[in-house]
Amino acid sequence: MTSSTLPTTDELRARARAALERVGAGSAVPDGARTGTAHVLHARTPVTGEDLFPVPAATESDAAEAVAAARTAFLTWRSTPPPRRGELVRRLGELLREHQEDVADLVTIEAGKIRTEALGEVQEMIDICDFAVGLSRQLYGRTIASERPGHRLAETWHPLGVVGVVSAFNFPVAVWSWNTAVALACGDTVVWKPSELTPLVSLACDRLLARAAEDVGAPRDVHRLLLGDRTVGAALVDDPRVALVSATGSTRMGREVGQRVAARLGRSLLELGGNNAAVVAPSADLDLAVQGIVFAAAGTAGQRCTTLRRLIVHRDIAETLTGRLTAAYRKLPVGDPFDAATLVGPLISTAALDRMRDALERVRAEGGELLVGGGRRLAEAAPGAAYVEPAIVRVGEQAGVVREETFAPLLYVLTYDSLEEAVALHNDVPQGLSSSIFTRDQREAEVFLSAEGSDCGIANVNIGTSGAEIGGAFGGEKETGGGRESGSDAWRAYMRRATNTVNYSSELSLAQNVSFL
Ligand code: NAD
Repeated sequence: MTSSTLPTTDELRARARAALERVGAGSAVPDGARTGTAHVLHARTPVTGEDLFPVPAATESDAAEAVAAARTAFLTWRSTPPPRRGELVRRLGELLREHQEDVADLVTIEAGKIRTEALGEVQEMIDICDFAVGLSRQLYGRTIASERPGHRLAETWHPLGVVGVVSAFNFPVAVWSWNTAVALACGDTVVWKPSELTPLVSLACDRLLARAAEDVGAPRDVHRLLLGDRTVGAALVDDPRVALVSATGSTRMGREVGQRVAARLGRSLLELGGNNAAVVAPSADLDLAVQGIVFAAAGTAGQRCTTLRRLIVHRDIAETLTGRLTAAYRKLPVGDPFDAATLVGPLISTAALDRMRDALERVRAEGGELLVGGGRRLAEAAPGAAYVEPAIVRVGEQAGVVREETFAPLLYVLTYDSLEEAVALHNDVPQGLSSSIFTRDQREAEVFLSAEGSDCGIANVNIGTSGAEIGGAFGGEKETGGGRESGSDAWRAYMRRATNTVNYSSELSLAQNVSFL
């Protein structure tokens, strides 16, 4: 199924401008075609594949200036009592509630997400604000038993400094909010380099945070936005005044950024690509599994870091399950992401479509069998856009392209005979983000969650690999980068720990019974 019509680029431009005006960022986009500056980014929509507005872009010297301003703001912000810092985050959350539809419109226009997922992305931002407000009254240290009489041993947590946030196109604003809400509550200031593919929604969020700062009397420079490509990102990453670089994107990007930050002995938090799998055991509830698999593999047009890319199915049920999945895939409505009936919107670009086609060609050359999908849709209506039918490919072994992340709705199906074999296949890829098992056998579920089971940062039972809640720590192992963001104690990455020894006796006693003088 395909929605036969798409909105025009003029309609999308008007909708984007109206949303920007309502959040207070209308002046950021020009009335005419010119911006009057040499450095320009072209905001674009994957819905039609056409340009929307030119937007002024930052230079490397703008990056240095933004870091300097954020550093100055940090000197005040670090001493502001944390619950008062929380008031800024609370106000941001209120503004996001008020403008949920506007921000979601911009997410759909720039990232192509279907309406319910775009609204869900903004809901996630609201949720992390609530979480960070609570956090602003916690940030606990601990007291540790001292080996010496008359001594107190404790640890305290202090703000870190300027946090440089580099983010990806596919969660253009939720990832920013995970970092920013928590960093602000922790007493840090933020310089944000969003994806060059999503400048408009970034301008909207920057404006909402500026309004929140005005409303609560926080320094304006607790947050600065740098629109630009990876050159501007690299200037931010290399700046020694940036205490933490939190970078989300491809493993290629993470390898570059991680090494650059390490070269200056800085701190980085990396959230990179995944190659997520689900094991489907013979006892699985197949109705539930089919729903979970289709959402995880085809939802967001396969463009989540947690998208399900490999299905490891027990041989006895492989035929039945693939039959049900291919039937469900044939009915998936592909098309206009603003249409409430659509479940699969566009890929971000025709380059992403080329990469999916290339992966399909490679896997077929490696012996894979295409079971469903892979065709392009709406090519005549929107030649610059990339609508595609989600695809399933049966493969005999986990080699070549199956071990890579192709950022598109492409699901590989493998079969297994023993759980041991399934877990070995599951873990035998370079990435380690998200995983799941569908089973009604408690022993199998527990093995999968145990130290001998999934090696990922996220391991689920009877639910797909995508769609995490903000309350847990989010991130993955191996080439996914090892970082954790969002809930639980992920806040500790945004603070520095100090260990304090206080001697309240009148004797000087040295640790380990050392005697001196
Ligand atoms: P990308 O790596 O192309 O770009 C991500 C960001 O990094 C952009 O802002 C880009 O300008 C910047 N960048 C790229 N090279 C840089 C460099 N050398 N120095 C500084 N900045 C640089 O990724 P993308 O295509 O926007 O997003 C898709 C990728 O992101 C997928 O691999 C996906 O799995 C991953 N992702 C991971 C998570 C996670 O939490 N693990 C979340 C979302 C997306």
